[in-house]
Parts: sequence; C-alpha cells; structure tokens
Amino acid sequence: MKSKDSVLGMDRDITRRDFLNGATVAVGSTVLTAPLSVFGDTGPQSAQMSSDYYPPLSDGLRGSHPGSFEAAHLIRDGKRWDNPEDSEDIGETYDLVVVGGGISGLAAAYFFQKEAGPDARILIVDNHDDFGGHAKRNEFEYEGRTLVDLGGTEFIEQPDEYPVHARALIEDLGIDPDQSDIVFDHDLYPSLKLRGGIFFDKETFAKDQLVAGREGLVPGDMQTAYVTLPAELENGVADVELVTDFLDRSPLSDKARAEILELFCGDIDFMAGKSIDEKKIQLRSISYVDFLNDFVAASQETIDFFLMWRASYMGNGVDLTPALDAMRYGLPGARGLGLVDTLRSIGYQPRSIREDLHFPDGNASVARLLVRRLIPDAAPGDSMHDIISAKFDYSKLDQEDSPVRLRLNATGVHVKHINESTVEMTYLQDGTAKRVRAKNCVLACYHAIVPHICPELPEPQKDALAKTIRMPLVSVNVLVDNWQAFEKLGIASAYCPGSYFCDMRLTYPVRFGDYSSARSTDEPITVHLYRIPLPGGDVAANEQFRLGRHELLATPFETFERNIREQLGRMLKDGGFDPARDIKGITVNRWPHGYSVGYDYASGKMNYWSDEWSDDKKLWLAGRQRFGRIAVANSDARASAMTESAIEEAHRATTELLNES
Ligand SMILES: Cc1cc2nc3c(=O)[nH]c(=O)nc-3n(C[C@H](O)[C@H](O)[C@H](O)COP(=O)(O)OP(=O)(O)OC[C@H]3O[C@@H](n4cnc5c(N)ncnc54)[C@H](O)[C@@H]3O)c2cc1C
Repeated sequence: MKSKDSVLGMDRDITRRDFLNGATVAVGSTVLTAPLSVFGDTGPQSAQMSSDYYPPLSDGLRGSHPGSFEAAHLIRDGKRWDNPEDSEDIGETYDLVVVGGGISGLAAAYFFQKEAGPDARILIVDNHDDFGGHAKRNEFEYEGRTLVDLGGTEFIEQPDEYPVHARALIEDLGIDPDQSDIVFDHDLYPSLKLRGGIFFDKETFAKDQLVAGREGLVPGDMQTAYVTLPAELENGVADVELVTDFLDRSPLSDKARAEILELFCGDIDFMAGKSIDEKKIQLRSISYVDFLNDFVAASQETIDFFLMWRASYMGNGVDLTPALDAMRYGLPGARGLGLVDTLRSIGYQPRSIREDLHFPDGNASVARLLVRRLIPDAAPGDSMHDIISAKFDYSKLDQEDSPVRLRLNATGVHVKHINESTVEMTYLQDGTAKRVRAKNCVLACYHAIVPHICPELPEPQKDALAKTIRMPLVSVNVLVDNWQAFEKLGIASAYCPGSYFCDMRLTYPVRFGDYSSARSTDEPITVHLYRIPLPGGDVAANEQFRLGRHELLATPFETFERNIREQLGRMLKDGGFDPARDIKGITVNRWPHGYSVGYDYASGKMNYWSDEWSDDKKLWLAGRQRFGRIAVANSDARASAMTESAIEEAHRATTELLNES
C-alpha cells in the first residue's frame, strides 16, 4: 500500500524545496547561533550581478525567505555594527541612501529624484533577494509558458480615492485605473459557471464537504476584495431563500443553520433596548466573536463558521476584528440590529471591486514600474501593459555609472550622523559589513528595527518605533497542471473556515499586453491560498502577532507543502483532483512582518478607529519624526497596510529632507 505522503505526492519531483528553511534557520535565540555564512554562502552580491539572477522564478519559501532576516535578528538580539573597525568604508557617497526597498523606499527614491534632478545619486538597500517588499512577484515556468502571480500585495484598492501624491505617482508611472475593468475579465469564471464556495472540513464540521454558491448570482455591493465567498452570503444582508438553500446543502447542524439564517436574514435585535449610538459604541469595543457569544448566544459551530470570514483580507479572524468593523466588511447581524444604514453612512460605502486595479503579480508591478523609472537600463518597455512580461536584468540594478543603485541581499545595520550634513550607513552583505555616506537618509524599513540600527534617535522616538508590530500572514501560489476539477465542482474560490489555509482562489483572470492568465481549464494555472498564523484564544492582538510570527519562522517548507497537498486534495477530490499528479510547483510567501496596523498599545487590542485617537495615542506620529538628515518613511509611519500609505509617507519623508536642505 502507498504511504500517505506518496499519495499526496510529497515525493514528486517539483522544483520547490528550499532546504534552508525554518528547520535550519530557527526562530528566537537559536538564530543567534546561525553563522553569517547562512546568508553569505551563495554570494548574493555577486549573484545579483550575474545574468541569470532572477528571483521571481525562485520557489519554495519566499516572502521573508531564508537568508533575508538573519542579520536583522542578530541586531534585534543585541549584535551591533557601531564600531568602524567592524566594517569597511567602501568610499561610496550619495545624495540619498534609502534603507528598505519596498514600495515606500522605492517611492522615496522616486520623489527625491523628481525634486533633486536626474543626476541625484541614490542608493537603496534591501535585505531580500528581490525588491518591492510585500509587493512581490512569483513566477513559474511550465511547459513553455510563464505564469505570473502575486506573492504579497494584491491590488490597487480604490485608486480613485488615492491621496494626492500616491495618485500622481501611479499616473506618472503610466498606471491607468480607468482600465481596471478592462484588464480584469470579470466574466471569465462566471462564463465557465465557476463561483465562490465554502469548504467544510471534517475536523471542524464533522464531514468534508465543498459547497458551491448558486450559479448565476452576482456578488453584492459590499465586496471588499476579489470574492472568495459564495455570492449569496457575500453581502451581510441576504435573501432568505438563497441563504436557506446554501445552508441546506451544507453539513451544518439544524441549530447552526437556524442561527446563521437569523443573522443574515432575521429581524431579532440581539441588542434590544440599546440606542443606535449605544450599539455602535459597544460593537466597536468587542470583537465579532464576542458579539456572537455575548449577544447572540451562538453555538460553537456558528462561531467556527464565521471565524475566518474575510480573514485573508483583514489579516486576522473575527475574534480580533471589532464587531462593528466586521459588520462593515459584510459579516451579518446589522439587519436585526437596525444598523444597515448606519454602517453604510459611517464607513464602508458600497462600491464595486471593478474599480480596483489588479495586476497579475499584484502591486509588484508598481514596484517594477518604479524600478524601471529609476533605473531604465534594468528593463525594457514604457507602459503598464508591457511591465508584466518585461524581463528585468538584475545585473543592471547596482551599476557604478547609474545615478540610482539598488542593492539587494543587503541589510542596513547601522545609521548615524558623522556631522550635521552627512549620514553614514553600514550594511551587511555577503557576511561583510560595509559603510557608505550620504547627505540624506530615508529609513523605509520596518519601524521596529529602527531603534536598533539608529541608536542616536531620541529615546521617546525609539520607544514609539519599538512598539510597532505587524500582522503575520502567508500567501501561497500552487501551480497546477489544469483546473478541470474546479470546472467540475463549479468553484473559482472557497472560504475554508476550519482548514490550515482559510481562503483559496484561482489566479486573477487578467490580460495585460501579451500576458494572459489561463482561459481554458486544460491550461496550467496558479491557485492562491492564504494562511493566517494567529493562535487565537484569549490573547491580546499584539501578542498574537508575535506568536504568529514565531510560528511562521519555525514552520519548515515541508509542513506547508503537506498541508497544501492534503487540503487541495480533500477539497477538490470530487472533481477528480489528484495532488500527486496535478501539483507542479509551490511557492510559499511567508510574511512574518505583514500588515502594518494601528492597535491600542495600552490594551493590545485592534483598533480600526485610530483616526479618532488623540495624537499622543498615535505612536507612529512620534516614531516618524525627522532627525537631522534622517527621515522616516514606510507604511508603519501611518500604521496603515496600504500601498498609498507607503507612498504618501515616502513623499512626506523626502519633503522633510529637501525642505531642510
Ligand atoms: C500578504 C499581503 C497582502 C497585501 N495586500 C495589499 C493590497 O492588496 N493592497 C494594498 O494597498 N496593500 C496591501 N498590503 C500592504 C502592504 O504592506 C503595503 O501596500 C506596502 O506594500 C508596504 O510597503 P512598505 O514599503 O511600507 O513596507 P514593506 O513592503 O514591508 O517594505 C519594507 C522593506 O524594507 C526591508 N527592510 C526592513 N528592514 C531592513 C533593513 N534593516 N535593511 C534593509 N532592508 C530592510 C523589508 O524587508 C522590506 O523589503 C499587503 C501586505 C501583505 C503582507
């Protein structure tokens, strides 16, 4: 008899195993013992200079890949590069040095160059083997085709509402949001009768069962992102007949069905006796799970059903999301509470996701457009359409004769003024520390590391920066030989409340220039999966983020792979899917430092209403102060995990420096 691993295909020869995974480079104190050669063995600098260096094609563990974070963790754990004897002065001087090559760092270089002129000398360093930070591109080559997908940042959300500098930047790069609806083929999957569904797993719901939404329904107007839910449950307020029909096809108990139906369609006011304002205040202070427990007295089965609703968009389960925000994002309950109109008026206005701009590689295209603008030799082309297929020559990114240089596999480890007008930045690359000088410095890296690499900042500022924490998440691409099983099951996406991965969807159905995602179900395609690695339970949000990060760094690729194979195999079994036969490649993007969020530092609770806070509670305002020739950018500077925030903060940071010149 075949072993379970062999049935899953764990022994299949796909190109995905990266043996320098969490098993070797462990989390916590053990990383201290990781030799510098961990990130020096492959000679990353010389690698970047070679013509076949092309990180988007790397598979296995990506995102925070092995080799990217070890230096930062050494710093976190006390190692310092503040003694000049420990580093080499390589004699390079710049007008601007940027630490962090995510969207914010790249945008900082762009804004600086725009003001200071094309000859301004700029160096950007990033600790990853690719640029873009979360805006990460994954590629697969299979049977003569190139398949592109996103490794992190998904899409340009509501570009019409982008703030002024972010809007100007994307337009200047040739990004035309008016084409959102043209490049994204909203009809493709419906034309194949594919729709959203829910996978009930036997461990949580007694039986493995994939239930597809009803054919022919269009998702409602409160969608927040490209849908993974059945359309009849998407909208928070739903139709009795449609919801009943869906629930009747599920393995849920009668009790859970009745509770869920009531929440979607019923009139019971679970907070009877309270005014609208009192309800709002209370629902802001408790989580959606608290609401289900304390007011609805819902069964555990119903709580399990809703726990990870939209988690891949929110970054957490609804045990952390304030109940009012959960309802704003489409969880049910508002109808009976009489809050539907209130919700619409206070925040999430109905909108169409047709306004969102989806590149196949997510906002990696924004990063690539920025890099092509800053370093024109790096890639051919001049439009948002040709950027998808443009092959980047990474050896051009760090050329001596180029005004802008982008140095990868390089961790900024020490930043200090050497006089009023000069900053020295030490970085670690190839296991060697090197120093450069610049008239200006933008720290566009995670704020939590800044106090360690820039000890000269004032103590209150360092304290504020140190309290920043990001939400961890995992974004996976699985290359499959064909998607006939999806067609047989009528599924384009599924919410999987009890499973290892909480959401699954087919790649974006897009067309850009000569790039097209798969149109026919016998073509290869990428399937996207999300995992939210938070432990849950009675633990404060910030502590959960910390624990989730540790889980991520301690999880070897093999564990991800086994879960991918097992979950897809179970979900798609009735469609004839065979994980051993059909899976051809796997890329796991883990983001231990994921979404930048505003949380209440005193209670550790999530807060979606930080706009209303007094300035002294918004620690990121204290953290992002300019200090001499050093300015602070990054989405952390706004506690907002959005591309436009990363760009706006880059603009603020560079303006602060240029205005003080
Ligand atoms: C899975 C995922 C999905 C997302 N989806 C969306 C979306 O659909 N739309 C949207 O608008 N936003 C989305 N976001 C939010 C995203 O964080 C922001 O849009 C934006 O890309 C953040 O850019 P940043 O430059 O501020 O930070 P980052 O992308 O984190 O970039 C910072 C860079 O600095 C590097 N760095 C850190 N320390 C150092 C050091 N000491 N030396 C050198 N380099 C260093 C980091 O490794 C990183 O590469 C998503 C985020 C994640 C994780």
